[in-house]
Amino acid sequence: MTMRVVLAFVLAVGLSLIMPLAALAETRPLLAPESLQVARVDGDLSVVLDLPRRTPFRVYVLADPLRLVVDLRDVDPVALQGLAVSPLGPAGIRSIRDGWSRIALPLPAPFRIASATMAQVRDGARLSLRLEPREWELFVQDAVAAAAEAARWDYPDTTGDAAMRGEKDRIVVALDPGHGGVDPGAQAAGLTEAELMLGFAKELAEVLRAAGVDVYLTRDSDTFVALDERITRARTVGADLMLSLHADSLKQGEATGATIYMLARRASDAASEHLAESHDRADLLAGVDLARQDDALALVMMDLARTETRPRTERLAQGLADALRHARIGMHRRPVRGAAFSVLKAPDFPSLLIEVGFLSSPRDRAHLTDPQWRARFQTAIRDAILLWVQDERERTARLRR
Ligand SMILES: [Zn+2]
Repeated sequence: MTMRVVLAFVLAVGLSLIMPLAALAETRPLLAPESLQVARVDGDLSVVLDLPRRTPFRVYVLADPLRLVVDLRDVDPVALQGLAVSPLGPAGIRSIRDGWSRIALPLPAPFRIASATMAQVRDGARLSLRLEPREWELFVQDAVAAAAEAARWDYPDTTGDAAMRGEKDRIVVALDPGHGGVDPGAQAAGLTEAELMLGFAKELAEVLRAAGVDVYLTRDSDTFVALDERITRARTVGADLMLSLHADSLKQGEATGATIYMLARRASDAASEHLAESHDRADLLAGVDLARQDDALALVMMDLARTETRPRTERLAQGLADALRHARIGMHRRPVRGAAFSVLKAPDFPSLLIEVGFLSSPRDRAHLTDPQWRARFQTAIRDAILLWVQDERERTARLRR
């Protein structure tokens, strides 16, 4: 993307991770006409839109006819009908794909988008746009580029504005299919966890790569890899995050539905503790020495790094739970849990262990072997990662200011 196109095509994601997406989509109060304010400021055009809450958005200009387009996610198009008679003229309002709504506002002259920000305000969120007059030829170039982008996007583009801030624009995700080799993991009804998760990881890798994410697999065949080694491999490729993929067995009736685990000294519950212990046991049986002690200084450094990483991990876990719920993936009663999984002990990058389902549950087995269900799960992971990356970059940018 050229700088000009980036300016014309601003994408931002400011999703509140506190409420599940599904709950956000359900509330649909009508926006009052005065929610949209337009003013001339020194020849520029100021456009302000008040919304009930922060939401992913993107804005761009289009030619023929001249218009400003605002796409909003998780905002019901019905709620936007109050804006149909806008200060700029009749607005086109419609639903576009995947829960996004579009407002098209007529422009009196060619403009370029100089700035676009979504800020939290007392009763919700405020989208503020500043438009500067643009020469006709340049405007047409902006509009053509924006139209080309608009025609082929289907999820937030997280690379453009990061490149503008000089950050590395590739995200590296380490996928860690659990078990393998001498350690098949859980087994039930002719299925093994190691094999299922390798397949799941390979499918997920394709979904992520299609979204421009670099993916690394800690194992890509049926081989044993020690837990420490998995972390080392992820670190070596510069992983921004690691997802460990599992489908374990628990006692009948105890577990069903997807569960997301974060590292915790004390397990959330006995079943979680049992899960973490059983994974270490596989390493012990394979002859890996877990008793290696790091020296005191290293431990202090690791604690410091974890303090930095921890809130980022929590936001990723919550975002993932929200995205899965949004995708109608059956989740465990308490979907985000903690346990002392050794594979989650990397202090320097966020890592989560996902129980995609439990092999001990017939219902979960049916899901795990259903390609369509897996695709829904994988798409939800992709969306959660992209939103999280965007959100973390915004946080970093805010801290720098
Ligand atoms: Zn496992």
